[in-house]
Amino acid sequence: MRYYLSVFLLGISAFIHAAAFEYKYPRSSVEMVLKKVSKHVYFVQGARGIATDNQGFISNATVVIDDKGITVIDALGSPSLAEQLLSQVRTISDLHIKRIISTHYHADHIYGLQVFEERGAKVLAPYGVHEYLNSEAAANRLEERRFSLEPWVSETTRLVEPDELIDKPTIIEEDGIKLTINYLGKSHSEADLTVFIEPDNVFVTGDVIFEGRIPFVGDSDSKAWLNTLNDMAGKKGIEALIPGHGGLAGDPEKAITLTRDYLAYLRKQLGSGVEEMMSFAEVYESIDWSPFEKLPAFHAGNRINAYQVFLSLEKEMLEE
Ligand SMILES: [Zn+2]
Repeated sequence: MRYYLSVFLLGISAFIHAAAFEYKYPRSSVEMVLKKVSKHVYFVQGARGIATDNQGFISNATVVIDDKGITVIDALGSPSLAEQLLSQVRTISDLHIKRIISTHYHADHIYGLQVFEERGAKVLAPYGVHEYLNSEAAANRLEERRFSLEPWVSETTRLVEPDELIDKPTIIEEDGIKLTINYLGKSHSEADLTVFIEPDNVFVTGDVIFEGRIPFVGDSDSKAWLNTLNDMAGKKGIEALIPGHGGLAGDPEKAITLTRDYLAYLRKQLGSGVEEMMSFAEVYESIDWSPFEKLPAFHAGNRINAYQVFLSLEKEMLEE
């Protein structure tokens, strides 16, 4: 009985706060649940799917509430989703938003940035994001999303310039928490960072880790990515790992090693083919894929991942 009463009261207070929240953008109507991870840390989990599914809510965002304010990590895929997140945060805390940290600049993680910026949050991003910000690809992507995610992404949605660029390991220690920002350089995107939150020991990895499935390699620098994962694998005492997509990693160390082993396997197996000047089709057919074949997303992504790594290995060889 007491349980039902408290759930009821929680519902009422959520309603009161939500009613007071002022929306500026068209309201998104997806299911979004702010889940508690540890004493200071909460997160929302996007749905599985492609970028334009679920009103664009396919990536995760993390919220850290310390004694005096709030840090948000990643801003979701539209201003509307960012407002929906913020309205949820307001049901549990009225503290001001100190900062928003962007793990990397990809559309599904950044179109909500302006919501936090407009509320005075400082925007932190990894050094190198200007390569994306100034690119034609970024402009085209936004143009396309204004169409495919209308009305949640619109003419009022803009690319937000960071206030501070992170280009080295950076520690923020204040008000009962410690954030260690690890600068990774080029890995999953033009520039990536991860955040380790203490004393909770929660690791926010952005898209550098894909939980329980093979990653989307894209045009990333697989060499730098692999080095990063090797560093991470040595990290002890991680209580929870929040990836850029998908659920909390049940076994953080395993999640890191899975992605690492996959990338290492791609580079090693394809590398010997590149050295022998074999064609991509030849090498691909000759590789035993059984260690990874049963993982989700293998059939959708492995061949294209292998091709991207093959091209980058050829390039690396020419640069040597
Ligand atoms: Zn992503």
